[in-house]
Amino acid sequence: MSDCVFCKIIKDEIPSDKVYENDEIVAFKDINPTAPVQILIIPKTHLSSLSRAKKNHQEVLGSIQVAAAQIAEDKGISNAFKLLTLSGKGAGQEVFHIHYHLLGGWKNKKK
Ligand code: 5GP
Ligand code: ZN
Repeated sequence: MSDCVFCKIIKDEIPSDKVYENDEIVAFKDINPTAPVQILIIPKTHLSSLSRAKKNHQEVLGSIQVAAAQIAEDKGISNAFKLLTLSGKGAGQEVFHIHYHLLGGWKNKKK
């Protein structure tokens, strides 16, 4: 999608701080983090949100979870992290290229 900010990040048309990349996935630091570690993990093929996921997306969506585990280990947060995707404006989704927030790095997380 030519007007999609995350498609532009994939193509390096917009700069980003990439922490992981393979054939299917890119992960980069969130520009406006709300946790000490906040990485966005996205598929290289455009899909607007989880609500649009079909059987053919199963593999890449699974790969995102495996990549999340690896990135969490690389960042030293594998003992405590969240992997979160928002689907739809009403849920707070702002960028309509599916992305998973990998959140962690809290010192003394209670709940
Ligand atoms: P959403 O609310 O859609 O789940 O979250 C979108 C996330 O993308 C936000 O946390 C926001 O800070 C991040 N974001 C939006 N634009 C950019 C960008 O150009 N670069 C980076 N690195 N993150 C972005
Ligand atoms: Zn896109």
